[in-house]
Amino acid sequence: MDMNQLAAVSCPACGGSECIEPAEFILDNIYSRYMACGDCLPDPQLQKDLPFSKIEQKGYDNSPCTGCGKRHLDVVMADALSIMIEYGCRSKGSTLFDVGTPLISVGYPLAFPPRLGRNELVLIADNISRPVAEQLIRIPGIKGVIKREGAPSQSVGIQDTDCKPHTYELLAGCDMRCDVVTSSFGELCIYKSQSKIHIEFGRESPSKMRVLDGLYAQGQLMGKVVVDGFCGPGTLGLMCALAGAKRVIFNDAWKTAIENTLLNIEINKDILGFELTAYVDTSTLPDIAENIVHVASVEGNGVVMDVFHGDFRKLKEVIPDFDICLIDTFPSVNPAGFVWNGASGRIVII
Ligand SMILES: [Zn+2]
Ligand SMILES: [Zn+2]
Repeated sequence: MDMNQLAAVSCPACGGSECIEPAEFILDNIYSRYMACGDCLPDPQLQKDLPFSKIEQKGYDNSPCTGCGKRHLDVVMADALSIMIEYGCRSKGSTLFDVGTPLISVGYPLAFPPRLGRNELVLIADNISRPVAEQLIRIPGIKGVIKREGAPSQSVGIQDTDCKPHTYELLAGCDMRCDVVTSSFGELCIYKSQSKIHIEFGRESPSKMRVLDGLYAQGQLMGKVVVDGFCGPGTLGLMCALAGAKRVIFNDAWKTAIENTLLNIEINKDILGFELTAYVDTSTLPDIAENIVHVASVEGNGVVMDVFHGDFRKLKEVIPDFDICLIDTFPSVNPAGFVWNGASGRIVII
């Protein structure tokens, strides 16, 4: 087994040094990150359902704030639409709604439209080509452009180990972004390679956290052995570590999920009080696991965590039992198929 120390955190997608921030830094600044400063122009009040030709006629100020350098989300989206119309992938009658789905680089429930600095928006768009995307990332504020494949309802990632993965295509820039995950027992930051990892919208993440809040309140996480069976970027397992679990087992068959989980262990390690001691060189892993591989071990602050790249159905070969096994699959997958014969613990469908 080839073990390496985890290197300093450069962005796994673009190699840049600014994409990945430590979780404490993000959490300390999240309230002010997207706020207007005293010098910011007022909300431009761009009508999102108005044809762009009308917005152009009225005119809008797209200059950055002289104080903080940020621009209103709608202004960034209007600039994007202007380029998309110029390149013919949107019509003059298109509205701001037709641009695509904007994901801010640090996802957090905001009560106001965000003001964006440099590289703070990952745009997911239909009907877009690479040359247009390369123009779009020159707009201040836009960090990456992802082309959506298939219907918006089709989840990104792998449904099962024998299925072809469904991924979006990163056309230009970088697709690493994070979400701040909030629970009754604390907050962590979870990074995602957003063209390859399920996108959570609206109430999805809060409703999953309410399930964990409930387990925490019932004393079912503190001091327990928890399996995060389809861990994705590691959200549920890391939150269980934060909740005081004594052992957390992460597993996913999708290599990107394992890479994201390792990154999220690293960037949250000071909050959780542990060190990632050693791990398998993930470049040697197949995109979709065939066998169970023990990728990493982490210890500290009363918790032991193990990361496995494997098919959930084979995990029982290496983990004989648990207290709680969390199963968080795609909405289209029937979780009833994932039974764990011989285990005494409780399986919780998230
Ligand atoms: Zn990056
Ligand atoms: Zn400002």
